[in-house]
Amino acid sequence: MPFQPFAQPQPAMRRAITEAYRQDERQCIERLLPQAAMTREQVFAAQRLARRLVAEVRAKRSKASGVDALMHEFSLSSLEGIALMCLAEALLRIPDKDTADRLIRDKLSRGDWRAHLGNSASLFVNAAAWGLLVTGKLVSSYSEQGLSAAVTRLAAKGGEPLIRKGVDLAMRMLGRQFVTGENIDEALENGLERESRGYRFSYDMLGEAAMTEEDAERYFHDYEQAIHAIGKAAAMRGVYEGPGISVKLSAIHPRYSRAQHARVMNELLPRLKALFMLAKQYDIGLNIDAEEADRLEISLDLIEALARDPDLAGFKGIGIVVQAYQKRCPFVIDYLIALARETGHHFMVRLVKGAYWDAEIKRAQVDGLPGYPVYTRKVHTDVSYLACAKALLSAQDAIFPQFATHNAYTLSALFTLASGLDYEFQCLHGMGETLYDQVVGSANMGRSCRIYAPVGSHQTLLAYLVRRLLENGANSSFVNRIVDESVSIEDLVADPCEVAAREGGRPHDKIPLPSALYGASRCNSAGIDLSSELVLADLQQRLQDSERRAWMACPMLADGDRRGGVARAVQNPANLGERVGQVFDATAEDAQRAVTLAVDAAAGWAATPPAERAACLQRAADLLEAHRADLMGLAVREAGKTLPNALAEVREAVDFLRYYSRQAAEELAGKAPLGPVVCISPWNFPLAIFLGEVSAALAAGNTVLAKPAEQTSLIAAEAVRLLHEAGVPRGALQCLPGRGEDVGAALVDDARVQGVIFTGSTEVAQLINRTLAARGGDTVLVAETGGQNAMIVDSTALPEQVVADVLASAFDSAGQRCSALRVLYLQHDVADKILAMLRGAMDELIIGDPAQLATDIGPVIDDEARAGLLAHIDKMRGVARTMHQTVLPAETAGGHFVAPTLIELDSLAPLTREVFGPVLHVRRFGADQLDLVLDEVNRSGYGLTHGVHSRIDETIDYVADQVKAGNVYVNRNIVGAVVGVQPFGGEGKSGTGPRRAVRSICTG
Ligand SMILES: Cc1cc2nc3c(=O)[nH]c(=O)nc-3n(C[C@H](O)[C@H](O)[C@H](O)COP(=O)(O)OP(=O)(O)OC[C@H]3O[C@@H](n4cnc5c(N)ncnc54)[C@H](O)[C@@H]3O)c2cc1C
Repeated sequence: MPFQPFAQPQPAMRRAITEAYRQDERQCIERLLPQAAMTREQVFAAQRLARRLVAEVRAKRSKASGVDALMHEFSLSSLEGIALMCLAEALLRIPDKDTADRLIRDKLSRGDWRAHLGNSASLFVNAAAWGLLVTGKLVSSYSEQGLSAAVTRLAAKGGEPLIRKGVDLAMRMLGRQFVTGENIDEALENGLERESRGYRFSYDMLGEAAMTEEDAERYFHDYEQAIHAIGKAAAMRGVYEGPGISVKLSAIHPRYSRAQHARVMNELLPRLKALFMLAKQYDIGLNIDAEEADRLEISLDLIEALARDPDLAGFKGIGIVVQAYQKRCPFVIDYLIALARETGHHFMVRLVKGAYWDAEIKRAQVDGLPGYPVYTRKVHTDVSYLACAKALLSAQDAIFPQFATHNAYTLSALFTLASGLDYEFQCLHGMGETLYDQVVGSANMGRSCRIYAPVGSHQTLLAYLVRRLLENGANSSFVNRIVDESVSIEDLVADPCEVAAREGGRPHDKIPLPSALYGASRCNSAGIDLSSELVLADLQQRLQDSERRAWMACPMLADGDRRGGVARAVQNPANLGERVGQVFDATAEDAQRAVTLAVDAAAGWAATPPAERAACLQRAADLLEAHRADLMGLAVREAGKTLPNALAEVREAVDFLRYYSRQAAEELAGKAPLGPVVCISPWNFPLAIFLGEVSAALAAGNTVLAKPAEQTSLIAAEAVRLLHEAGVPRGALQCLPGRGEDVGAALVDDARVQGVIFTGSTEVAQLINRTLAARGGDTVLVAETGGQNAMIVDSTALPEQVVADVLASAFDSAGQRCSALRVLYLQHDVADKILAMLRGAMDELIIGDPAQLATDIGPVIDDEARAGLLAHIDKMRGVARTMHQTVLPAETAGGHFVAPTLIELDSLAPLTREVFGPVLHVRRFGADQLDLVLDEVNRSGYGLTHGVHSRIDETIDYVADQVKAGNVYVNRNIVGAVVGVQPFGGEGKSGTGPRRAVRSICTG
């Protein structure tokens, strides 16, 4: 039974959380409003206080430092703001001067800097001014004009090296502003003055999410060291009075995700427990930061395990962060209160609004989820925050509430509501301190505030800073609005409950549900959330049902199915002992007969009104969604796809059907079809490409002779059955399974065939081309073939982003995508670092049966493919500079598995053709050798795709212009930004490559 249980048993208390994910936003808000509501007196008191706080912050703004001042000067919606962020994020990590200079020049040349500071013409002026302004030093020593002149002189005299030094200095100064210390001892020392004024601290060790086990161990060690240092400094002041620490779980395990549930519980949990035991020993609080919404459920599994662990009994320092922007938040709070009471704990709960809002919205859209996990309107998050805060405050026996906000109204409302109760405020270092200076200390409002204090090198901190700016840069954000004089104080202190009630809790009108993303043109294909226990339980059941069905494919002709020949058994490529179904291949006579029937049916289908053809394809799309689990099951067991890939496969097919349905109804109406068209598709996207070709041809009124790949006839046959069920006449769509050499060749050779759509190898495409040419006439051929896909990475790229993209592009789908990365070019200066990280991340991949949710890489399609790949790897051993392979687990012995392999080459000469599998070749290049690289890439043949990782726009434009490739994917993304990114690995959901415009073939 390959589809093993992958849903976790759900305790009743947790079910409510899982179910809340599906809730409608309006209903959520209607339910929350009474819980969040305050009396009129309380609202007035809160507003009075908030007005005072805001006025004071504004009055002090001329002296303000930190994010507030920075955002005042450079809006993130401006070119200059983005350029500065890019410089700040990348400059300090670039090891070579040439590239650093190029980055600076690139950013200097863009944007209207003059508009920001005096008459200065260069970014350096602004960057320096920016850094200096923030620290308040510039203002006292130079005038703007003076600085501008000085910089112009400097640039003229000293050129780039001096500018580099200056910008570097400015970035470091900026860094100092936002980080408490470069190491924990320095941070503790720097915190003393504020501690004496009544502030408390929670320290955070900066860093990216761990990509490798080595990263995770290093971060874990950093946390351990930090707990010792903080613990000693805390001197047993206790979890409330003393300093504490905040931990990001993605830093201490390289695979912190729902799909890796067993590893998370077996490996991450013991590490986390070890940190908690240490924190307990020193009696300091340890907070688990909240990350993305799809990690919520697994984080609760960890928390529950800790809460029930007898070794942690009685410890009051278990800290949990909950995000008010999530619809599930109120239910999480109910659950935590119940869990604390049941286990006798007193949790610290930090209530935040949430830092990943735009990423959550984007992910739900990309994944086609039924709804958003977060609210779409800021005011709804504010309402939820108040309701959740009240729930926390009402459970003093179980919870110590920690309210993390920089919003003066939120703060004031809580201050008003929580009179006489135990709680604390929290803010981020470098943000909101002007606000909290009015709150902390007995001379002020007498409430304590804990500062979340990042600790780390300037390199890591700038990436962190950029994230914070993005998170707060939205014009709806309070820290942004408070510095904007055009926003009135009355607007800033408006009661969110009143605003939300007035507007009836309706969602944002510019943020359509994921299904409505394409507006009136078509419905987005529906996805499912593979991190939800309810979804997983349902999927598992359906997959197991699909497994029990007797799958069969045979020639499906207009006049009936043929099951005359000898049946061929279909084996599961992951487990050759498992029979998935059987196929009766078409004979040469079947092919001939099918063409006759297609000719007969041509006039009828061509005369069918385009709207009716379109309606058939629409119904077919809906049927595919209704039978999603069957199709996914086949994609897994017949084609070896992992579950996420199988889901993407169905979605892409649905999108194709809807896309061409629209085309049929609109653009193709009135155009004459060609007649019988042969569609020959590959096994690597056995549903998406198959139906992409078929639906395009059908939409235009052609009769289709579909020849699926020999390896994946079962899923194709099921798709054809569904299209027939949707109303496509049997004469308009016939299916002929069989070998290309026999059935495919017979169809292509038939003079009555008017067009061929083919996706597959260049060799076969050329063969078809020759056959058609020999036949004479003007039969149309549309062919999409493979190529040598490369990616160029310079030293401005962020290694973590590079490695994530390379893993996805080179190894996902076991490298069996026509868009997959085959040759990676790394700049010398960063090659060792990136390769070490890549090897470590490869070692974390789970290779095995794709029917398991945890599997990252399944088998290759058949023995022939496997043998070819192994022969190539063997041949490369002789010429490779280095080679790295992951270890294949023993259970892969029963299938066609190939270990992901990294081969470093000194020259591309030994690589004579595309290697279609999980094999990545690497080349190094010097900073001044970009032209040589492009030359080599272009000489290797046409690339279907090409990738660039660089922060330098000039490099990106140059590569895009010079490289001979179908699609160029660019990652110029600054950390955490979701704007302007095109992920690698294919722009379609399944990565099948561009949506082919097959119209040319479809109409005469
Ligand atoms: C001490 C501390 C620790 C933190 N730890 C975490 C953590 O572990 N995990 C985490 O995710 N965040 C964490 N944060 C970040 C926190 O989520 C943000 O700082 C916070 O959201 C900003 O809220 P605010 O009340 O200061 O500002 P406000 O300006 O009042 O609120 C901004 C917030 O509103 C929400 N929002 C914005 N637009 C919309 C919209 N259209 N629809 C719905 N909601 C919207 C977002 O959550 C955004 O962050 C922490 C913050 C602090 C101070």
